[in-house]
Amino acid sequence: MPTTNKQQPTTVSPTIGVLALQGDFDAHRKRLEELGAKVVLVKKPEQLDSIDGLVIPGGESSTFLKLLGEAGFEKLKNFVHLKPTFGTCAGAILLAKEVENPKQLGLGAIDIDIRRNAYGRQIDSSIREGLFRDAPIEMVFIRAPRIERIGEGVEVLATESKDPVVVRHGKTMAATFHPELSADPRIHKAFLDLVQNGNPVK
Ligand code: GLN
Repeated sequence: MPTTNKQQPTTVSPTIGVLALQGDFDAHRKRLEELGAKVVLVKKPEQLDSIDGLVIPGGESSTFLKLLGEAGFEKLKNFVHLKPTFGTCAGAILLAKEVENPKQLGLGAIDIDIRRNAYGRQIDSSIREGLFRDAPIEMVFIRAPRIERIGEGVEVLATESKDPVVVRHGKTMAATFHPELSADPRIHKAFLDLVQNGNPVK
């Protein structure tokens, strides 16, 4: 009998893009590579065509919007409505439906309203402990936004105090803190599960 290699199931590691216009994209690259993903630093819109999922890192969301320009924004919008995307901090702001303080454009990939720099000056940046799927986890907040409304079908994966801080809606995930700055890989792992299985496996 001829061997038919083609029919064997194969586990192919996904190619994940990290939007590398600005912000702390390299820490995401490292973490994703440690978890076995192939990583591409996305600097040009056409690179979106060859990736299975995308991470939008923290930074300054208004600067991202400027650097993307109108055409880049539209291309990114098409991508996030088709493929799994994970936004952290400024990335979460970009993915939201409504953005406040001040108002700015959102990609609308996830049905949440989010408020930029919501924690005020005093707790501008802090390391706090929250719960990810009911288990404690370190969370690094830097001029963090707060999710002020979550729409129907949005799942809360993590909380800090009473606030939802990691949410998922279909193939889109958003965190208001910086999981790439802690040693714990669980949040990125959940995103890779989402890319590979359509679900952040428990
Ligand atoms: N304050 C930033 C913004 O509004 C987000 C901060 C961050 O990504 N660490 O875009």
